[in-house]
Amino acid sequence: MLSVCIYCGNNKTKALDECGECLKTPQSHTEVIHSIIMSYSEEEPYLNFISKDELEEYRKSIINGLPIKISPDTFQMAEEAFGAVGSLRSPQALKYFSRISDLVIVVVMLLILAFILLGL
Ligand SMILES: [Zn+2]
Repeated sequence: MLSVCIYCGNNKTKALDECGECLKTPQSHTEVIHSIIMSYSEEEPYLNFISKDELEEYRKSIINGLPIKISPDTFQMAEEAFGAVGSLRSPQALKYFSRISDLVIVVVMLLILAFILLGL
């Protein structure tokens, strides 16, 4: 995962973490979305909104103190993806899903057991 700090252009490991160089963390909604757009991952290509080359172009703008120009379409796409990923990755949702999967496993095992006992 390659993330570019939207304040100084430095590389970060995670889009929403504090920057090791300027110690700033994305705060506002716009900053969070911009930080997500300024990320590139080989492993999770569906989370990429811009190409690596574009990312480097943006980095140059940031270093030169120019405003980050992101198209409204890209911004909206990132916003929607962040909404979906954000709700799925929240600890509460994860707990909920893991509880359901535990229950599913128990039910399936009971069904198998019932089939073995009754099916003979
Ligand atoms: Zn920074």
